[in-house]
Order: sequence, then C-alpha cells, then structure tokens
Amino acid sequence: MKHYKINEIFYSIQGEGYNAGRAAVFVRFSGCNLDCYFCDTCHTSGTPMTAPQICQEISRYPASLVVLTGGEPALFVDQQLCDAIHALGKQIAMETNGTCPVTVPIDHITCSPKFEFCADAPLRLSRMDELKVVYTRHNDMTLYDHIEAQSYFLQPCNVGDPQENQLTLQATLDYVLRHPKWRISLQLHKILGVQ
Ligand code: SF4
Repeated sequence: MKHYKINEIFYSIQGEGYNAGRAAVFVRFSGCNLDCYFCDTCHTSGTPMTAPQICQEISRYPASLVVLTGGEPALFVDQQLCDAIHALGKQIAMETNGTCPVTVPIDHITCSPKFEFCADAPLRLSRMDELKVVYTRHNDMTLYDHIEAQSYFLQPCNVGDPQENQLTLQATLDYVLRHPKWRISLQLHKILGVQ
C-alpha cells in the first residue's frame, strides 16, 4: 500500500483566509518542489503513513474540515487519499504554491503563489477558490491582477518586529481600502496563541 510522508497531523483552528475561525485537522506533508528562502518547514523529516493510518488520525477529531498543507501537498495527494477522507464525511481543503496541477477532488483550493520569491514558480492550477498573498509592502501587486479566483486575501507579513509589523498592517489596510476585491487575512492562530 502507498505511503505518504507526513510531518505532522494536528488539530487546531484555521487561522487564515476563507476558512479562518473554523476548527480543522491539519495534515502536513513533507517535501516541496520549491526552495523559498523564508521557508520554515523541514522537507526531509516525516513519517511514512498509509491512507487508512492518516484517516485513523483524522477521525480522532470532530471537525468536518481537513486541511492538507506542507511542504507542497499537491505533489503527493492522490485519489485514494481524497476518497478515504471524503468517506469520513470530511471536507478537504488544500494549501498549495500552485505550481503543480491539482487533478484530484479537493473541495477548497487556497493558492499562495511564490513567483515573487522563486524564479521558476509559474502557476499551473486550473481552478483556485482562494488566492492568498503575503503582503510585505514591497510586493508587485500587478503580478496578481490577472489571476482568477473566487476570493482574494491579503495577509500582512509578520517579520517579528512590532514596529515593522504595524507599518505592514497599516499598508495592508490601505491597500484593501483602495482595492476592495481583496480582503485582509490575519493569522488568527497566532493571535490566539495556538499551533
Ligand atoms: S512553497 Fe511553501 S513549503 Fe515550499 S519552499 Fe516555499 S514556503 Fe516552503
């Protein structure tokens, strides 16, 4: 039986974007096709798990939402795993960098493009429910103008410096007020102090 390399499975609140505030089971895959300089995910560690083992872990929690994240989950998620999660009666959301086509039945696709940071990261998604851009105050927002999505989220970049963060938050607010197709995404889980 196929094994998927899993960094961790944990239960928390979705802090960002369209599903912010919802309890969810997070399945974090190990491995990515990009190498962003700011990445804080280990791409080498991970435990091999089968779809039934992943589902057994997911079943421990009552949330109806499962978030597949990474790393880059689109490299690994297949029909077998989607079917197994759907058979539990759960909704599947995926957080992806958008560089791999998603041909499996995902209920909600969030794309966070990395083409501003990685030279070879063109988008290859045929559908996007949510576009999420981390706003640094230096983004070239014209790069996102042509991208079609159901909803658009701008998330102030947290650099760890309170003064810088305040400036970025204000700039994000200003941008959204001038471009109201975008909505602000705050990292609720950080405000709540949860994983
Ligand atoms: S796309 Fe995401 S997971 Fe992959 S290297 Fe960049 S930040 Fe890390």
